[in-house]
Amino acid sequence: MPSPRRIPIFDGHNDALLRLHRRSGGDPVAAFLQGEDKGQLDLAKARKGGFAGGLFAIFVPSPDRKTAAPSEKPAAQASDAAGQTPNFASVPSPPGVDPIEAQRIVFAMTALLYRIARASRGRVRVCRTVGDIETCLDRGALAAVLHIEGAEAIDTNFEVLEVLHAAGLRSLGPVWSRPNAFGYGVPFRCPSSPDTGPGLTDLGKDLIRACNRLKILIDLSHLNERGFWDVAELSNAPLVATHSNAHAISPHSRNLTGRQLAAIRESKGLVGVNFAVSFLRPDGRHDKNTPLDLIVQHAEYLLDHLGEDGVGFGSDFDGAMVPDELGDATGLPKLVQALRKRGHSQNLIEKLCFRNWLRVLGRTWK
Ligand code: ZN
Repeated sequence: MPSPRRIPIFDGHNDALLRLHRRSGGDPVAAFLQGEDKGQLDLAKARKGGFAGGLFAIFVPSPDRKTAAPSEKPAAQASDAAGQTPNFASVPSPPGVDPIEAQRIVFAMTALLYRIARASRGRVRVCRTVGDIETCLDRGALAAVLHIEGAEAIDTNFEVLEVLHAAGLRSLGPVWSRPNAFGYGVPFRCPSSPDTGPGLTDLGKDLIRACNRLKILIDLSHLNERGFWDVAELSNAPLVATHSNAHAISPHSRNLTGRQLAAIRESKGLVGVNFAVSFLRPDGRHDKNTPLDLIVQHAEYLLDHLGEDGVGFGSDFDGAMVPDELGDATGLPKLVQALRKRGHSQNLIEKLCFRNWLRVLGRTWK
């Protein structure tokens, strides 16, 4: 793992499990542990780039994504790229997911992560506490925290939530960018306000209370603005958007307005800067020819509005198109270098790279 001088990066969002789950043929466990040509994140790329761990998302694809989501990137690889078109058109929300089918996929992807961890012989660990993550950082093991993006698999009595928590679930987004029983996700639109419709349902509000009781982090990233304020009003935990950017720079519906950032700051929460080109660019285009410096610009804007303890990274590796200049997880040292070039201190860069994430997870899970 990283040499002593290299700063480890703990990251708020990746879709490596989705990529592995959907790959045709071969052994997904070996593909992750040995690394392969395709994809943006696997163990080999993580070690090369100093990616020390992060929230590993479980995402249940919509049934007819291929017809609903024209995208430059194959739908099979994208969760955040889905629904985005190069010409900024808005795409209707994809259809809902059957809860039983959602459970089948959630269990399969959870099992996949545990199989990876077991076969890794200590090189990958599923972490349930900040202490677990710190142990991984010390030993150079990849720290994986189980996250669910879209709660379709959760039943109305929260029994599945209880079981998943016992299986290591520590973070959950009530919705992805589609409606479900818990609320209305924000559709992919640019330019657009995030204020796109109704927020959480009554059941969604119960889910927030259940997450608070179990101390599961509630991810705001795919909620629309009404849903965001519903969580802000109800939750007793810091407000966290694991992979979102500044609306003032990129006026995408997935990004956060000044008022939202003020509420996150007030709660001592955190935003993970998303590397997806569509959420970085002022024009929202799906264009891999996007400068790495835009990630730095979003980080600096968010630092100005959230303070130096309120910003981390939320790469969206394997879920979205990222700037070519970064490429994949092996490109992370270029991002750290760009932050150094801007004159940021070692202390601030360490906060951005992992300390802030560990702080907010500690406050949420305590
Ligand atoms: Zn996402």
